[in-house]
Amino acid sequence: MNRIGIGYDIHRLVAGRKLIIGGVLIPHEKGFEAHSDGDVLCHALCDALLGAAGLPNIGVLFPDSDPKYKDADSMELLRTVVARVAEKGYRPLQVDSNLVAQRPKLQPFVAEMIRALAAATGLEEEKISIKPRTNEYMGAEGREEGISAQVVVVLQRIKEDKG
Ligand code: MG
Repeated sequence: MNRIGIGYDIHRLVAGRKLIIGGVLIPHEKGFEAHSDGDVLCHALCDALLGAAGLPNIGVLFPDSDPKYKDADSMELLRTVVARVAEKGYRPLQVDSNLVAQRPKLQPFVAEMIRALAAATGLEEEKISIKPRTNEYMGAEGREEGISAQVVVVLQRIKEDKG
């Protein structure tokens, strides 16, 4: 049986930090204020995968109180999450996502993000969708206070759940 998961994340934009989304370094005057690299797309995808597999969420698995995860590479966290999901007997079948940013324009980076997420999840590139959009100048994303991501995943059963 297939299972569905939903994930959401938002991080504040601040000066003096790198902007990394979907594993891709994006040239911008601000980056994410976060304990890890703050990759919202990666974090939302992790939570969607964990939710679908019935595992604890990313904040429980990788607590930001743990110095081990300071400036953590979120793609590394994603690979760990995919491995945990596989231990539970599931593999990703499909990913769809929204990426909400007033600025910078993210569409030029989508192909590279998809390649990075495909490599980390073992999915074929055409099974991953990333849809950047603005927030029409409204709300936190519209005022460029932050960037958010929403992700839905479908998991496929690969073996019996060992509980
Ligand atoms: Mg996060």
